[in-house]
Amino acid sequence: MLEIKFGILGQYFHCPQKGDFEYAAQALVMVDQQGVIAAVLHPQDEQYAYNIESLRASSKLVELTSAQYLMPGMVDLHVHAPQFPQAGKGLDLPLYDWLQDYTFPLEAKFADLDFAKQVYPRLVNSLLANGTTSAVYFATIHAESSLELARECLKQGQRAFVGKVNMDEPTQCPPFYIESSTEQALQQTEQFIQQVIALDGNQQQLVSPVITPRFVPSCTVEMLQGLGQLTQQYQCHVQTHCSESDWARDYSQQHYGKTDVALYHDFGLMTRKTILAHSIFLTPDDCEVIKHTGASIAHCPLSNMYFANAAMQTREILDNDLHCGLGSDIAGAPIPSIFHTCLDAVSHSRVREDGTSTYIAAAERGEAGKRISFIEAYWLATVGGGIAIDAKVGLFQTGYEFDALIIDTDIDDSNIYIVDEMDSAKDKLEKIICLNNRQNIRKVWVKGQQVINK
Ligand SMILES: [Zn+2]
Repeated sequence: MLEIKFGILGQYFHCPQKGDFEYAAQALVMVDQQGVIAAVLHPQDEQYAYNIESLRASSKLVELTSAQYLMPGMVDLHVHAPQFPQAGKGLDLPLYDWLQDYTFPLEAKFADLDFAKQVYPRLVNSLLANGTTSAVYFATIHAESSLELARECLKQGQRAFVGKVNMDEPTQCPPFYIESSTEQALQQTEQFIQQVIALDGNQQQLVSPVITPRFVPSCTVEMLQGLGQLTQQYQCHVQTHCSESDWARDYSQQHYGKTDVALYHDFGLMTRKTILAHSIFLTPDDCEVIKHTGASIAHCPLSNMYFANAAMQTREILDNDLHCGLGSDIAGAPIPSIFHTCLDAVSHSRVREDGTSTYIAAAERGEAGKRISFIEAYWLATVGGGIAIDAKVGLFQTGYEFDALIIDTDIDDSNIYIVDEMDSAKDKLEKIICLNNRQNIRKVWVKGQQVINK
């Protein structure tokens, strides 16, 4: 028993199969010293009772109540960390104006390291408290404050993927928020990669660097080429925006005669570890490239409703087995909860399926058969996100990292009301997805380390 750090005894939900879920009523999940799941036992297993007694005797057993549920940690594939102070503001503007009027002036403030030190701890704590155990972050163009974000994630124990943003195209970036030169930005990016890998306390690489061209319009060809070379050299994760809106899609077509995916592919930026935020206007060829390279899509449904000008083809992406997870897209959408993003993803697909105009007959109003289910959305948020970040998270299975949370429905300020004699396991899971908030999330672990305890 020495190698076991602790065990958790109680009920859990997870989604080993896309589109389905598994409920275990009284499982014992055992976690080793490295934070990896050593075994998952059920009452019929031979060693079950023995292990419970041993763990209990050595005070290493966490026993859940009948109102508590162990669930995998949530993965947020797209967060703009510096935009947290802007969350909930200016969402009436189209993307271009929103960036110029709100976002770029705010991001420019992160030249001041003290400002970064004010903002980043609050954001990382909010995400962890909402159950986000893994987050993929855009920082800003400033290497020093980007490194501060990486340090903060490490300090609070969040699995994180942090990118120093790159943007050097003078016709698209305001003079107060642009790289001083392409060459210098590439040097800083390379140094940033090395610094994150070598951060004090990052021996297990809980925090990873991400190569981050902001999006096609903000980057010169030299920048995209240089970042592609760094991607190949360091085998890093890559994140960027992809065909997010009519304007962004049209920009690439007008300037290069290509789609974003084709351009990124040309520059060596499409790899198994690439995360493409949004990806609304994908062509069949784009889907082929994404599938072939093993890159992933970060579906950000609420921000799509504000900025995308069209609906995401989530149903087709799931059916086509493209890698896909969910993103909050703070602050293109204001809510720091991937549970909420699940609800948004379902609602987004339902509006797409039904259509909107009351002047059109029901049968022709929407796109039939395009809905996704709550369980599929939850799969995207956990297993799908884990595949996208190329980490073994999102399931309670031997060999998976123990990134998990406990939902407690029996608290005074809970919106979740479960009626045991009326609610099936599926009902309970759907209620939790729809109605939980941060008060219900009592404990959170990342890699076996407890990071939230209420
Ligand atoms: Zn974004």
